[in-house]
Amino acid sequence: MKTNLYAQRNERLYLKNKKYKEPTVCKICGLVFIDGIWKKTEKPKGEYFEDVCPACRRIKDNYYGGILNLKSDILKSKKDEIVNLMKNKEKESENINPLRRIGKIEVVNDSEMNVYTTFEHLAVAIGKAILRAFKGDLEIKYKEDDKVARVYWIK
Ligand SMILES: [Zn+2]
Repeated sequence: MKTNLYAQRNERLYLKNKKYKEPTVCKICGLVFIDGIWKKTEKPKGEYFEDVCPACRRIKDNYYGGILNLKSDILKSKKDEIVNLMKNKEKESENINPLRRIGKIEVVNDSEMNVYTTFEHLAVAIGKAILRAFKGDLEIKYKEDDKVARVYWIK
């Protein structure tokens, strides 16, 4: 069983590193792959390829690079504030690399939620921003082999 899971994971890593032809337009979010990177830009005037960008692929496959777990009683009273802060970080991060996105926010209960990001950097950036704004404790665990960050914030 373990072997199978590992093989699946490798296959997906392969997909992440897959080579796209240029120019390619993501048929889900409209990003354009050109000059070796995904950009938020106008669709190419001439012919282009269509595919799914790595961020949309991860969201579609439910295969995230960053998982942030928040545990605190202040989630009850400050949930909107915290969600806004996360969205702002996402925007900031998207300006650097439009593949860095929040895929989903899962409310576990009144005082716990999970935030899933397409790549590891954004989960870490959000965790640090929450730590700066609300104090508490932050723990970051990287798994180097598959580039997944698990971030835990507790207060
Ligand atoms: Zn896309």
